[in-house]
Amino acid sequence: MTETTRLLRDLVAIPSVNPMRPDIPPEIALEFRVTAYLEQFFRTLGVPFERQNVAPQRDNIVARLTIPGAKRTLMFEVHQDTVPVDGMIIDPFGAKIEGNKLYGRGSCDIKGGMASMLGCFARLVREKPKGCCNVIMACSVDEEATMLGVIELAKRTKADCAVVAEPTNLNIVHAHKGVVRWNLLTAGRSCHSSTPEQGTNAIYRMGKLLVAIEQYAAHLRASSSDPLLGPPTMSVGLIEGGVSVNTVPDRCKIAIDRRLIAGEDPDKQSENFLTFLKTNAGIDFPFELNAPTIRMPALSPKGSEEIQKLLGAAIDAERGSHKVHSVPYGTDAATLAWAGIPSVVFGPGDIAKAHTVDEWVPLDEVESAANILYRLACAVG
Ligand SMILES: [Zn+2]
Repeated sequence: MTETTRLLRDLVAIPSVNPMRPDIPPEIALEFRVTAYLEQFFRTLGVPFERQNVAPQRDNIVARLTIPGAKRTLMFEVHQDTVPVDGMIIDPFGAKIEGNKLYGRGSCDIKGGMASMLGCFARLVREKPKGCCNVIMACSVDEEATMLGVIELAKRTKADCAVVAEPTNLNIVHAHKGVVRWNLLTAGRSCHSSTPEQGTNAIYRMGKLLVAIEQYAAHLRASSSDPLLGPPTMSVGLIEGGVSVNTVPDRCKIAIDRRLIAGEDPDKQSENFLTFLKTNAGIDFPFELNAPTIRMPALSPKGSEEIQKLLGAAIDAERGSHKVHSVPYGTDAATLAWAGIPSVVFGPGDIAKAHTVDEWVPLDEVESAANILYRLACAVG
């Protein structure tokens, strides 16, 4: 068994389920067990590393290889967490190997990519090839829910370019939309439904807001369009409110999903949205737009042209050809790029197998990815 496959088997056997719901069993929740494994791995390799605390028991871990005379620093970034294991038809932590496939939760998303990066990083540390760049190996937390890990990483760690691991079948992803999500609440005054004129109906108030939000969504779609990603969008996906049919409701809540295109600042979207509601839509009652539950910019292909080219050449040398394309899902690459680090997404495995009931990753792609990243580190210089 190769070092990369052994790393992958170990990583899949260690649960690191994102605590995205309150019912995730504590014995499999959070990333700290994987972080401890990584800390031991970096200590054995003899490289300096730091932990970046993001939340209780949730640390990014960031190791560094410094090459004397290297001009640039390349970051390998990968998330430690996985989605939950509900409904899986295989042992999620069995890490069973059958032929070219390794099965388990996270094998494809994205412990396969993590093993490729760690295997490459270890080889670079041992061989220190002539002309290689400095390498930062960054393993972040909370990618699968609110992306807090990469926000902290981008604040604290600088690099000249980055490769972010996600399953791309060894192709290059250079663009995707961003996202901001909010909860919005209306308040009213409850009373018996037989005398509704004595209360204030929070659901009626929300109804007026929903009409305004639909107008804003239409305004967004018409405002601009990205050649790769299409127009920005907004959608209301959840609504709750009221206690019984014979009570005038004093509270109503919705959840809103806003997709961003390249150039839109995630931190400005609350203000833009509020301004529209208050000035264009004539909303004359109080409501509460909470701080975003998630905020991630779009990933633009602009600025990452050189790393796209170097990585493309490394893939071609190993596999013969590659594709460069955009995707509908979001990644940590967008937040790194927004912070000024040109970033692309690359990794072994098929995104169609991520989060599935029998998740697996092809081992030959995991090995190839490690070789490709090694060639890239030598090319970045
Ligand atoms: Zn992922």
